[in-house]
Amino acid sequence: MNADHPDTSSGTGGWTSPESRPDDVSRETSNAGWVASTPDDRDHHREALKSSVPEVDEDTPLAAQLALDARRRIELDGRRFPRPESTRIITVANQKGGVGKTTTTVNVAAGLARAGLKVLVIDNDPQGNASTALGLEHRAGTPSIYEVLVENEPIESAVQACPDVDGLWGVPATIDLSGAEIELVSLVSRETRLRKALDRYLEDRVSRGEERIDYVFVDCPPSLGLLTVNAFVTGREVLIPIQCEYYALEGLSQLLKTIELIKAHLNPELVVSTILLTMYDGRTNLAQQVAAEVRQHFPDQTLRTTVPRSVRISEAPSYGQTVMTYDPGSTGALAYLEAAREMAEHTVERADLR
Ligand code: ADP
Ligand code: MG
Repeated sequence: MNADHPDTSSGTGGWTSPESRPDDVSRETSNAGWVASTPDDRDHHREALKSSVPEVDEDTPLAAQLALDARRRIELDGRRFPRPESTRIITVANQKGGVGKTTTTVNVAAGLARAGLKVLVIDNDPQGNASTALGLEHRAGTPSIYEVLVENEPIESAVQACPDVDGLWGVPATIDLSGAEIELVSLVSRETRLRKALDRYLEDRVSRGEERIDYVFVDCPPSLGLLTVNAFVTGREVLIPIQCEYYALEGLSQLLKTIELIKAHLNPELVVSTILLTMYDGRTNLAQQVAAEVRQHFPDQTLRTTVPRSVRISEAPSYGQTVMTYDPGSTGALAYLEAAREMAEHTVERADLR
């Protein structure tokens, strides 16, 4: 544990597949220890439990964090998120490296799946970090997004179920993808290949009678090349993770300009729907200033939930896991689950950035 960044863990945060805990039957939660028979009862119990968590002095950050985690655990345990009206396709982008794109992609995706939704992650970054975190096979030669983009293979031939999370699938990226940026240049409809492949996959699933996918996330490389352009043409929404540090906003205007160009020429539906502040340390003035500035510019898009710096979050990928399964009761897992809930419950069309 990092002394500067308390990363609390419940120890009782284990969770079972949402399928095994449908909303409308009696059940007992391991965390909160209550039994409730209807959704209304459960809301009532949640409120009672939350009000039993003592108020704490904001000057004691550890106590405050523990109280916040306790409330979140009560609020989120076993909760199912609403299904969107149609499949939401979300591109996670920021041309800066190391701002939390991949971490956000896999953890929000796992959070939504944990809450009962069907989620697909497309790893569109040659580094393959999302594939690693989701526990997907991605050795050279494994059917991957490269074959989909460059060789016209159907997505179905590359999809893998995530071993640890029910309702979560992924299309891996292998080392082959590092050549795709150049190979794509000479191919026909080079900007729309991913979109066509995904639209076909989603339609085929439904016509085969398989369950609809609720969310698709496309993880992008830290550049604005053809792989990212394909991701922007595929997505109907963009999620931008912003790291709360110096120069956080630098480069954002370039990103927004690129998105406007894509919108004007290739994908008129595209909107920046969501901004998530990552690696946030509320005790530093800098993080607070960056957060305030982002919220001032993008009040409708910025999620209320911020993701703290968390040792657990950064450890999880080396075990081929998201933090949702690696340490589901930890501060970081709860923050990502809360962010996922905000995204799922934000049903209103978000205003565009223009
Ligand atoms: P990107 O995909 O934008 O390049 P990553 O998601 O790979 O960024 O994150 C960069 C590094 O920061 C990774 O090592 C990741 O484990 C770590 N990291 C991301 N988010 C957090 C967090 N909230 N707390 C601690 N480490 C984090
Ligand atoms: Mg990444």
